Amino acid sequence: MEATVEIKRLSASVINKIAAGEVIERPSSVVKELLENCIDAGATRIDVAIEKGGIELIRVSDNGHGIAPDQLQLAVTSHATSKIDDADDLFHVGSLGFRGEALASIAEISRFLLRSRTAADDAGYELEVNGGQMGEVSPCGCPLGTTVEIRDLFYNTPVRRRFLRTTQTEIGHIGEAFTRIALGFPHIHFTLSHNGRVLHELPVSHDLRDRIGRFFGPEIQNALIPIVSEDSGVELSGFVVDPTHSRSHNRMQYLFLNGRHIRDRSLQHALGEAYRGLLLHGRCPIAFLRMDMPAEMIDVNVHPAKLEVRFQNGGQLYSQLLGTIRRIFLTTDLTARIDPAIAGQADAAANRARDFQPDAQRNPLPSQSSHSGFDSSDRQPSPSERQQSIAFQPTQPLADPFSIGGRGSATHGSQDQPDLSLAGNPQADLSNEQSELRGDNQIPSPALPAFRAHPPQTHRPLAMQIHNRYLVTETEEGVIVIDQHALHERILYEELRKKVLAGKLEKQNLLVPEPIHLTASEAALVLEQTELLLQLGIQVEPFGGDTVLVSAYPAMLANYSPSEMVRQIVDMLAEGGKRPDRRDILDSLLHMISCKAAIKAGDRLAPEEITLLIEHRQYCQDSHHCPHGRPTALVFSREELDRRFKRI
Ligand code: ADP
Ligand code: MG
Repeated sequence: MEATVEIKRLSASVINKIAAGEVIERPSSVVKELLENCIDAGATRIDVAIEKGGIELIRVSDNGHGIAPDQLQLAVTSHATSKIDDADDLFHVGSLGFRGEALASIAEISRFLLRSRTAADDAGYELEVNGGQMGEVSPCGCPLGTTVEIRDLFYNTPVRRRFLRTTQTEIGHIGEAFTRIALGFPHIHFTLSHNGRVLHELPVSHDLRDRIGRFFGPEIQNALIPIVSEDSGVELSGFVVDPTHSRSHNRMQYLFLNGRHIRDRSLQHALGEAYRGLLLHGRCPIAFLRMDMPAEMIDVNVHPAKLEVRFQNGGQLYSQLLGTIRRIFLTTDLTARIDPAIAGQADAAANRARDFQPDAQRNPLPSQSSHSGFDSSDRQPSPSERQQSIAFQPTQPLADPFSIGGRGSATHGSQDQPDLSLAGNPQADLSNEQSELRGDNQIPSPALPAFRAHPPQTHRPLAMQIHNRYLVTETEEGVIVIDQHALHERILYEELRKKVLAGKLEKQNLLVPEPIHLTASEAALVLEQTELLLQLGIQVEPFGGDTVLVSAYPAMLANYSPSEMVRQIVDMLAEGGKRPDRRDILDSLLHMISCKAAIKAGDRLAPEEITLLIEHRQYCQDSHHCPHGRPTALVFSREELDRRFKRI
């Protein structure tokens, strides 16, 4: 017997349940849909009351234009909307809703009550719908506007109901939905209460900043950096947050398109790019960005919950966002301001950063002079020479094969000593030739005339090194404490990046190329990137079997053996997983090289070196963070000191 296949029309009830399945995932989805309706109705005040995580009750009231009594039943009918007329309208949707599905879906899976009064009616009218069963419209007393009450959500869809989590989890989701909408419309007064307790009371505000502060507290509010730009009809506004604040997830990246909260991977990527080098690996920026553009430029009809949209000109938006934030960062003083409340966070960031540079402590540079580039001649270095010297140290002439070959083994042996700097240890392990070259046998005098003649502009020449790792100096504002490694690393990183991008990095041929034995897959990883490595001054060639040969090496890495470096590069490439982006590799290498070449915590610095380092701060695009995103400096403002000493 053959089975006959019969095609049937689905009942309205099943259709609505299917739609509900797509749009209404949990109580927070209901809250989102109802709030959108209130906003579309022009409300200036919206109150949300929740009982038991929204499973027992969700009530949303607004003071919008209301629904006329003869329209109440239509409002809860599927595919009935007042917001669009024809298909053309789909391409310039100016409202948050347009599908006419939400109320019908919600009413299908709950006990639903709609009450409304328009300005044209003396009384209000109400309509009950019970699991999709529509009742009669009857008069009732109610204020101008609309109230929707939903009880027993999912009571007739037990599977969905079983998926619900604890009250706490559900109210968490509701809170997030509420936050997204309230941030998108600061000029509307919102309240949210749960089990009779007020969670949020948000009066009308004309500055998004206030609302952000109410949700995320003063720390975030005080770290907001306003951005604004306009390009071809797209207005970008809102705030990015100082990179001292970040998250391990991107949920604190709020994007609003014409007020609607959206998710957009491309824009989030742009945001990540803008913070490149400012945040630790794995940390995400925080931002509240608003884009306003004509509705014709967007297609909102691509996602059931309208969370994603399609832009007519996504590429332009990407560049606009990236460019705007970058410009702002270049002109903003991002120096971490020490605030007792955030000090703990800065510490935590520093601890994390330490994990990223395990070499900082145990691998001090063998010689202080090798990174300062000071010579003992009386000639005053020009500012550009000075910049050059600190940025590109150690610039040892590599003609001497021992300065490379000897470095790897000989100097590494002595690196457990905490301080090998010349001032502390005149027998520091420089080759004789190197010492001679720079007259390093004299301890540099703190009173070099060079620095008297050119007092730095923003810092007094005097800064103090403490614990061989921090520099303390005075500014107009207060006291600034600088992390010597972090700052030097930043200076080197920027200088190196500039040179590499301009193709101007000098490589030094090794007189005796260094063979490095690797596994087959390691060799393949490195050899795949020869071109990129060459850009960085590292020339690697195949040398038979799984051995590679390093035949040229950057001058600035004179203190770091090529084999060590190549092994680190291999590890990095192996970690990168499948085909990492070329730009990412380059950036990671720049980070690695500048970290290795920079002075370390534990290096004693000569006074001139200290001054140089501090002078160089001002040449940095971002002198406030090391390439890992740690702060390079902390400012203790005079006011703060006065306050803490109870002078004010
Ligand atoms: P959509 O918002 O996509 O139009 P809904 O099912 O959410 O679909 O709402 C259906 C209709 O009910 C809306 O088009 C609107 O006319 C009316 N409506 C819903 N909620 C409200 C409200 N809070 N105030 C005024 N009208 C409302
Ligand atoms: Mg709607």
